[in-house]
Amino acid sequence: MSSDCLFCRIVAGELSVAQVYSDDTVVAIRDIAPQAPTHILLLSRKHIASVGEVGEQDRDLMGKIFAVGAELARREGVATDGYRLVVNNGRNGGQTVDHLHVHLLGGRPMAWPPG
Ligand code: AMP
Ligand code: ZN
Repeated sequence: MSSDCLFCRIVAGELSVAQVYSDDTVVAIRDIAPQAPTHILLLSRKHIASVGEVGEQDRDLMGKIFAVGAELARREGVATDGYRLVVNNGRNGGQTVDHLHVHLLGGRPMAWPPG
């Protein structure tokens, strides 16, 4: 854990958030600035700065994050109409928090290409 990392502090339970899921590797919270009716962040408990830092040793973790994302989409009622799982990486990718997370966005139609 990195004490100056916002998402490390959230997965450690140090900050008040709207948590929707937690297990030994993944914590899911509602985004503080939702960009869709459903906007959930899937956080790895392990501090990994970005998807660019993911290694072979994180294979199970990545699989778990996506499986939880799909399950939460079903629970939120957005699975049938469709949704997006998004990973922003680096400055051009729009990453603002340097701790691995996947956005689950749903509840409205989304355009392609993204902005
Ligand atoms: P990204 O820009 O991909 O790094 O995503 C970071 C996300 O974290 C943004 O969508 C923010 O709105 C969200 N965020 C920042 N601080 C918090 C917080 N305290 N609780 C929940 N979401 C947050
Ligand atoms: Zn962190």
